[in-house]
Amino acid sequence: MIPLPLSTIAELTGGVLHTERPETVVGGPVVIDSRAVEPGALFAAFKGERVDGHDFAAAALAAGAAGVLAQRPFGGPGEPRGPAVIVDDVQKALGLLARGVLARLPDTTVIGVTGSAGKTSTKDLIAQVVRHAGETIAPVGSFNNEIGLPLTALRADEGTRHLVLEMGARGVGHIAYLARVARPRIGVVLNVGTAHIGEFGSQEMVARAKGELVEAVPAEGTAVLNADDPLVRAMAARTPAKIVLFGRAPDATVRAADEWLDDAGRARFSLVTPEGAVPVALRLHGAHAVANALAAAAVARETGMELNAVADALAAAEPASRWRMEVSESPGGVTVVNDAYNANPESMRAALDTLGHMARGRRAFAVLGEMAELGASSVAEHAKIGQHVARSGLAGLIVVGAAAAPMADGAAQVGSWTGECVQVDDVGAALTALRERLRPRDVVLVKGSRVAGMERVAAGLLEED
Ligand code: ATP
Ligand code: MG
Repeated sequence: MIPLPLSTIAELTGGVLHTERPETVVGGPVVIDSRAVEPGALFAAFKGERVDGHDFAAAALAAGAAGVLAQRPFGGPGEPRGPAVIVDDVQKALGLLARGVLARLPDTTVIGVTGSAGKTSTKDLIAQVVRHAGETIAPVGSFNNEIGLPLTALRADEGTRHLVLEMGARGVGHIAYLARVARPRIGVVLNVGTAHIGEFGSQEMVARAKGELVEAVPAEGTAVLNADDPLVRAMAARTPAKIVLFGRAPDATVRAADEWLDDAGRARFSLVTPEGAVPVALRLHGAHAVANALAAAAVARETGMELNAVADALAAAEPASRWRMEVSESPGGVTVVNDAYNANPESMRAALDTLGHMARGRRAFAVLGEMAELGASSVAEHAKIGQHVARSGLAGLIVVGAAAAPMADGAAQVGSWTGECVQVDDVGAALTALRERLRPRDVVLVKGSRVAGMERVAAGLLEED
């Protein structure tokens, strides 16, 4: 964090100062784990479900923390009870602190990313591109909620040119809150799908929630919107800010033309902008990577990057994180596509379509676990994925777990399908079914929601000899 005296931290958070030396400067990071304390740090004491950070406040001070942000007095007999700033709600205080810090950093451009699918992938892509134009901070992984986002923002200092933040929503008002903590000068909306729809109720509510990001963009900022998603495109009406459309639509400012996937499923396209067109060869897999790359290109263009530099940075960008369309070869010569990080109907279809491209005459199998959090539409959505598999003409579908079972019913409805559908209870049975069927050169997609733990299938396949 930028150096701030405890008195300023108390002012920004509306807290009460417990120290004899209010001028003590916090110069280290803001941390919520006492084991991560460095000298000069601010330790924020969170009361979790099992552990109460207040019990570790004294230890944090002993380890060199300059102060503690707490909700109640702490410290046992003989233990230090300060310096501390006591607030009503540590989570809100973190948000207020982050907001106060960013207000002191006028040269830091906040870039906010939201959407139903692809936030983390795109956030990582943006960061990998714009860091060529200046020092960039982005969180590792999702880190997109009321705690992770301010903690990331608090890492920014005077040298930070870009702060790339993923903004997740589990309901209306969530993104509005995150955007008050870190107001984005560039706001990116990727898509409005059915992810987490169980909590929202309807796709319109999802659109309302994601659109809060666009509403937060100031008039002198830019909203970067997916031209190919009607619900996202319509968000243009919700801000006076400049609009930049990206996508395949002919009127998109940043557009992809001549798209194809190479034999390994890596995406190639021509990046078309008002400044010209350049070919881009991504190391990322799947057609949806093109959309994410276009969003990143549109953001980079707003930061003033040259088209060629953008294309070079995109070509060099590494796949976001583990278990997202991670392609490996098993010892037995089977290509394993591990997309087990998460799943919703949109990303399932995107991954299945990529599998179809990658297979090119080879036998393709999909091992699919459940898509969680779909609420009342769960059975229907699973059935539709089963139909999609069958219509894609895959050699086999392995359905894992009871919640995913309607996929098998969906596949069975497609009479023309000649592939085989197997239903199993768990990961172990899925591996057994696969071992009986797989041959060298086959391609296997492994995917499901986090709770399905489908990465264990991928790991099992890759261990075999
Ligand atoms: P979460 O809500 O869990 O944080 P997220 O929005 O951050 O998810 P990612 O983690 O980037 O999304 O990707 C989740 C899944 O969606 C992966 O399987 C990925 O391959 C797929 N995906 C990535 N980009 C897109 C896209 N533009 N459209 C559809 N699916 C996508
Ligand atoms: Mg994410």
